Amino acid sequence: MSGPDQVAPGSAADPQAESAPLAGAKPRVGTPLLDVRALTAHHGQLRALTGVSLSVFPGDVYAIIGANGAGKSTLLRSIAGLHRPTTGSILLDGADVTSQRPERRVAAGIAMVPEGRRLFGSLTVEENLLVGSSYARPGPWTVERVYELFSWMRERRTQRAAQLSGGEQQAVAIGRALVTNPRVLLLDELSLGLAPVVVRRIYSTLPELLAGGITVLLVEQDVSQALHVASRIHCLLEGRTTLEGSPEGVSPQRIESAYFGLAGQAEPDDRSSGQQESLA
Ligand code: ATP
Repeated sequence: MSGPDQVAPGSAADPQAESAPLAGAKPRVGTPLLDVRALTAHHGQLRALTGVSLSVFPGDVYAIIGANGAGKSTLLRSIAGLHRPTTGSILLDGADVTSQRPERRVAAGIAMVPEGRRLFGSLTVEENLLVGSSYARPGPWTVERVYELFSWMRERRTQRAAQLSGGEQQAVAIGRALVTNPRVLLLDELSLGLAPVVVRRIYSTLPELLAGGITVLLVEQDVSQALHVASRIHCLLEGRTTLEGSPEGVSPQRIESAYFGLAGQAEPDDRSSGQQESLA
């Protein structure tokens, strides 16, 4: 959640969200598909997230950006139910899923492509896809449909996942999530370790997913890639929100300031040093 204009009714506003929205800011109305409210999460004694709030609306490509250790994966894993937050809540289409187990969240429509793919290397491509179908919701995405999306995959369906290239493994990991027919697809660092051309190919599948009604929340360390695909960006710095809003018209300096916490190197109206800033 970014500024006062964007706090959905009943949402817990981020206590740091004191900055006024910039001129031209449009309120986002209705019920968010995914609503994260004031999430704080720890790894042992280390606080990885502090009061992070965000609202993802249907059709968004919502990108979380931030440097190493900013808390991006912890946020995604918390939404998927793989990490238990300390405080705060997570709502899917208005229903509180904060205490639900990961498989229940999959069945409710939250699927995740984890950082590093995490395929079963000794299983075949098809077996990996079927692993994802155990808690599937009914819907258009089947193994066959995944083979249509990634045409090379059908003829290599009996190959072990470990024998695939990084890009191919990423595609299988996406397919595994798709066969659960998610409402929200969480993508953690798709581009990690992949050549730019492969990254472009992977990202080129997004329009088809969106056209099919899937909403996307992704973590991306490559900021230019994130800006290229995102309808909304959210920058984390040391577990706190430093910037949230529409990426249109935002200057590289402003993003850099939010990304690195470079107070003093930002534009004159920048308010992101230690505070959340609303873009639009
Ligand atoms: P990266 O891009 O490097 O994956 P990130 O933005 O995804 O970083 P997280 O992985 O969420 O950040 O990590 C947030 C903080 O929590 C970091 O300080 C990290 O060292 C710490 N952390 C993450 N996972 C663990 C863990 N399993 N045990 C202890 N600390 C952890």
